[in-house]
Amino acid sequence: MNKVYNFSAGPAILPREAMEAGSRACLEFNGMGLSLLEISHRSKEFEAVLNDARAIVKELLGVPDGYQVLFLQGGASLQFAMVPMNLLDEGETAAYLDTGVWANKALKEAKLFGNAKAVASSKEQNYTFIPKEYEVPADAKYFHVTSNNTIYGTQLQSFPASAVPLISDMSSDIFSRPVDVSKFGLIYAGSQKNMGIAGTTLVIIRDDLMGKAKRKLPSMLDYKLQAENDSMYNTPPVFAIYMALETLKWVKSKGGVSAMQKLNEEKAGRLYAEIDSNPLFKGTCAVEDRSRMNVTFVMNKPELEGAFLKEAEAAGLSGLKGHRSVGGFRASIYNAMGVDGIDALVSLMRDFSKRNS
Ligand SMILES: *Cc1c(COP(=O)(O)O)cnc(C)c1O
Repeated sequence: MNKVYNFSAGPAILPREAMEAGSRACLEFNGMGLSLLEISHRSKEFEAVLNDARAIVKELLGVPDGYQVLFLQGGASLQFAMVPMNLLDEGETAAYLDTGVWANKALKEAKLFGNAKAVASSKEQNYTFIPKEYEVPADAKYFHVTSNNTIYGTQLQSFPASAVPLISDMSSDIFSRPVDVSKFGLIYAGSQKNMGIAGTTLVIIRDDLMGKAKRKLPSMLDYKLQAENDSMYNTPPVFAIYMALETLKWVKSKGGVSAMQKLNEEKAGRLYAEIDSNPLFKGTCAVEDRSRMNVTFVMNKPELEGAFLKEAEAAGLSGLKGHRSVGGFRASIYNAMGVDGIDALVSLMRDFSKRNS
């Protein structure tokens, strides 16, 4: 079979090296004569995996002292609820920047627990840009932002200064660029976009934000208890954590998050340049807010979109169909997508345009 480039938004492309390591670990792990899938999560072999995964997260992102790195379950969607459950008491205020479907879902969950409100929203403009004029109430317990809007193709190019703890859903761009963790109270990310397979959720939380809520929390949903138990209060998702470790080892081998940023800027730059110069295509978002992870675009002749998708599939360019709320196309170009994938897409866009002008 010819090479297939995976442009899917998530679960998404993974480094070949990580998948090979995962395949081997399924059959036999560490010379034990057993699969990683059948050993105790309390074994010294798995404890080493968990410790290494925690350590490489800290190393790649430069996580300072005073933060806990947790591997939880329930996806980013459970964090939408866990954040307010742990940080927002009834009657207290929390601020949200409403920049997309995921941001809006996070806000909706927070409203179950306290006085959560959007300080700004681009919903009326179908989330085509990131609002920049707003005020965060001084009494807010935290300010929640979505660093990359996977569906709409916008991304915070820099993070707002915040007097209250800044919380970010980084599900679709974590490890794609350096971030100054010390500026955040809490960062979370589902693993299946840019750091592995579905099944675990990375949470980086500042110590002083744990154990504060007045309400009683179920054990599994209590950050403090999860931290005290080193993410092993119950059986953790062993394979998802292993795949995160192997994916992050690959990131490290390529030069870490600064190298990823350079690569991602190069890839996104090439693709946006084609979108902007090709008469058949156009971008869907404000140029200054364009995402380097999820590139959304449509055609000036929408009647040709179906034909382009068909040709793309035939050419081994998979997963390019846009989300139903944007239409057109979405090229998700996470860390593991190489420049060759971008070049293959650009070359098809050029060729298709020539034949259809
Ligand atoms: C995919 C995604 C989610 C949802 O993640 P789950 O792990 O499926 O709950 C949340 N936020 C963002 C930004 C996403 O891209």
